[in-house]
Parts: sequence; C-alpha cells; structure tokens
Amino acid sequence: MIISGVQKLTLLDYPGHTACTVFFSGCNFRCPFCHNAILVERPNETIRIPEEEFFSFLNKRKGLLDGVAITGGEPTLNKDLPEFMSKIKELGYAVKLDSNGTNPEMLKRIIDEKLVDYIAMDIKNSKEKYPITSGVDERFMPKVEESVELLMQGRVDFEFRTTIVKEFHTIEDMVKISEWIKGDEKYFLQAFKDSGDLINPDLQGIEYSEYEKYLQAVKPLLPNSALRGVS
Ligand code: SF4
Repeated sequence: MIISGVQKLTLLDYPGHTACTVFFSGCNFRCPFCHNAILVERPNETIRIPEEEFFSFLNKRKGLLDGVAITGGEPTLNKDLPEFMSKIKELGYAVKLDSNGTNPEMLKRIIDEKLVDYIAMDIKNSKEKYPITSGVDERFMPKVEESVELLMQGRVDFEFRTTIVKEFHTIEDMVKISEWIKGDEKYFLQAFKDSGDLINPDLQGIEYSEYEKYLQAVKPLLPNSALRGVS
C-alpha cells in the first residue's frame, strides 16, 4: 500500500464531516479528465508516507477530526485496504471511500465487515461510452455493474457521481445514465476542473450555465440529483 499524500483538513471531501483525505497511488482506469495524473500514471514520482506516520497523525487529531476520506487513484486495488480501514475505525473515525467500482468483491467485504460509512462511486458515463470515458476497454463493465447493484441494496450510505466533460457527455448520455441507476439515491453531477495535472491536458470544460441542462436531463429518474462544484 502506497500512501501518496495526506490532506490534513477537508470540509468538502467528506460532506458533514471534519476530515482528512488520504491518497493512494495506482488506478486501473485512465480517465482522460483525471485530475490526479501523477497518482495514476507516474506513481513512482509521488511522495510516500509511511503508514505509521499517517496513524500517528490520526492519533494526534482525535477530537479535532471525525472522518477520513480515502481516495486515489483507486484505493480498492490495495489488498490490505480492509486492514487499513479497520485501524482507522479502531481510532473512532468515520470512513468514506471513493471508488471507480471495478472491485465489487472488495466493496462487499468492507460493507460486510462494517469498515466503511460512506461510499462515493463514479459513474463514468452511459454503459456504451464507458471505454472512451474510462480510457480502458470494456473489460471492467461487468464489475462496475455489479458494484452499482451492490450499492443500490442500500446496506451502506452512498452516492453516485459523474464528472461532466464536454468531450464525453451529451444530454442523451445523461438520460441513459439515469435509466441505468434510477432511484432515490444521491447522484451528483460534478464540474470538470483543470487541475493542471490532467491525463489529457487538452480537454475543455463547459460553461457553468450549461450544467443545469445536464441536471434537468437526469432529474425525472434521479430526483435526488444535484450539481457539485458548479460556481
Ligand atoms: S479519475 Fe479516478 S478512476 Fe479515473 S483514472 Fe483518475 S483516479 Fe482512476
């Protein structure tokens, strides 16, 4: 397990919590709009934080922080993620996990073992446009669909979310996504932002005023959908 970064305080990454964010390197997707390209494509260039150092930090922050957001990269690629989460839970923190949904077995295990309090899963695009949007072929699609079904059982608090990128998402795609994941779960349409470290630096954002059209396309089947980061 390579810890490649820790953000010591976030009020955004784990809504409702005063949290820190821990970043893991490595991902099995290559989303062109990924804003952490170094974690995905150049993990050897990232800093490495020893686990002991991270847990020493968490120990000192007890009472000041109440949550830990685990992100990447794709954290579920780490086989020892459950043990890592367990240690965090033992310290009394709530745990949020960001995932691309390609490892439903790991998601099921951490739900079964009550190691996670909130999961945020990416819905990259409509099923047919997953390959172009995730940057890999369709081999992960059955796993992604399995993760969607798992989360929709509602055994853990969760959200789905899609980062809207002009080059990949049409209104029609959004309708297809809503038909796929329809229900009363939380669904966020996130603004694409150029972090300066994109996998494809040539991508364009869309005008903020256009996001509303995307939202209206999913609202009929996803009434608890909302925009995030659009301002
Ligand atoms: S956006 Fe997420 S799933 Fe896509 S390449 Fe980056 S870390 Fe992986």
